Amino acid sequence: MKHQIFPSYCSCFNIFRVSVTMIEKMELLDVDKLIEEFESLTKDAGNVQRETLKKILEENGCAEYLQNLGLNGRTDPESFKACVPLVTHNDLQPYIQRIVDGSSSPILTGKPITTISLSSGTTQGKPKFVPFNDELMETTLQIYRTSYAFRTREFPIENGKALQLIYSSKQSNTKGGLIVGTATTNVFRNSQFKNTMKVMQSQCCSPDEVIFGPDFHQSLYCHLLCGLIFREEIQFISSTFSHSIVHAFRTFEQVWEELCADIREGVLTSRITFPSVRSAMAKLLKPNPELADLIHKKCLGLNNWYGLIPELFPNVKYIYGIMTGSMEPYLKKLRHYARDLPLISADYGSSEGWIGANVNPNVPPELATYVVLPNIGYFEFIPLKENVEEAKPVGLTEVKVGEEYEVIITSFAGLYRYRLGDVVKVTGFHNLSPELKFICRRNLMLTINIDKNTEKDLQLAVEAASKLNTEEKLEVLDFSSHVDLSTNPGHYVIFWEISGEVRDEVLEECCNCLDCSFVDAGYVSSRKINAIGPLELRVVQRGTFQKILDHYVGLGAALSQFKTPRCVGSTNNEVFQILCNNVVKSYFSTAF
Ligand code: AMP
Repeated sequence: MKHQIFPSYCSCFNIFRVSVTMIEKMELLDVDKLIEEFESLTKDAGNVQRETLKKILEENGCAEYLQNLGLNGRTDPESFKACVPLVTHNDLQPYIQRIVDGSSSPILTGKPITTISLSSGTTQGKPKFVPFNDELMETTLQIYRTSYAFRTREFPIENGKALQLIYSSKQSNTKGGLIVGTATTNVFRNSQFKNTMKVMQSQCCSPDEVIFGPDFHQSLYCHLLCGLIFREEIQFISSTFSHSIVHAFRTFEQVWEELCADIREGVLTSRITFPSVRSAMAKLLKPNPELADLIHKKCLGLNNWYGLIPELFPNVKYIYGIMTGSMEPYLKKLRHYARDLPLISADYGSSEGWIGANVNPNVPPELATYVVLPNIGYFEFIPLKENVEEAKPVGLTEVKVGEEYEVIITSFAGLYRYRLGDVVKVTGFHNLSPELKFICRRNLMLTINIDKNTEKDLQLAVEAASKLNTEEKLEVLDFSSHVDLSTNPGHYVIFWEISGEVRDEVLEECCNCLDCSFVDAGYVSSRKINAIGPLELRVVQRGTFQKILDHYVGLGAALSQFKTPRCVGSTNNEVFQILCNNVVKSYFSTAF
């Protein structure tokens, strides 16, 4: 049996090696071939998974972590599951810390880890260290190429440029001499990234000095300026998480006249202070009054910036970035800017490793799913229907359509049976590999007693409440929440940053609507008997969420990976203080 499986799997791996080396010689990627490779991998998903686990365990069998678990060279899934425990980041922290401190012995991987990724930390409050290595880089590029192939088949682009709103945080060194950066930084700084972007016709219109600039406000301004300079050539607009695209065009609304002035005079605003960024921009910026006039006219002609993107960039074919999960609340604004341009959600992954590619790009982001690539890691899924404590993880090909699971990753970068904390729903299969819909982070967010509300429930409540009165032009720019146990009984607090003047009566109504929109039986019954107090809506000043973003960037997170924390616990004191210090009005629900 093994003999029959191995050659077919090996050939899959070889195909990938060939396409990687070809990248160096080829002008463009061979889309048909990439799709063919993906089809053969997913048709054989079960065997590919077994062989991937074998490869991971063979490469890393000498690592101390695996040695201590008594696998004794066995690489089959059954022995693996019997010997290796499910872990969280906390369990691995002491091992990772030793790597960070410079220990060169094989701790989690056979080959020493030389680079560490700093996860965005915005979901949990503080950044975590996770190992990064060449294999992780290669799987990143594999997933980029795969979704590119499917995207290009549906939405072909011409040779041109991309306005990529990407930012690299600083790479620094640990005291043990390892390189540390956010995962996106480690990817953007890798030489293979640029080559891959080239063969994917996705070269960033901005120079490296802008992407790697030390101040993201300045980089953002320059990205916009580069986009305008190359406006006719821009084929698509992208970012890692789509929040960055919305953030960029909101900024555009503030700085467009300054951008026009720079283009008119051919001189960069004095606000950009870093010499490397200034000199890189000086090479691109020439006085161009016609272009400045054109942009000025277009901006003045827009109604509340509706359709801004296609007006500015006439040849853009689509907008691309992660748009699901905590990014869904930004879709409305993105559509406003994009008018009828397709919005395509980018792939599903994390600093710990990639999971699935979006191979159905013509599906709207609300319905986007991700097909797991069976050779980029070994995947297990904890069924969430059953009693959590007893639920046994199942393999990639054993998941059932319609069920929800927590994702467990075993990666090429030293994570074994690692609980990612994400909840996904299986919506179907692509050949034998499941299609996953991202649901939410597993951590319960809002809970006081028997109530359970997740990030998704909060998002739906905010959506419902913000739709209440469109005549008032109420726009919720961003939101977060908190469980306030300092009152008796405790109650939910929702923070809103809104634009426009909204009457108190409307906000009172919104507050009641929020309270009624948490339909979880535990919440409703607790509210009815006042075991949970009235929900409180606190409106914060304009710019509060920008302060939160700045706070995280100050901690070393990159704008590229930023996700607004949707629930702020009292342990996340600094962010909680930012929110509380900026409250301008507060309302209590009278709904129950
Ligand atoms: P980071 O910690 O910055 O590496 O972020 C990884 C997390 O972002 C994942 O664990 C998910 O919770 C979320 N994420 C990544 N990709 C997607 C996606 N396509 N849709 C929804 N959420 C995603």
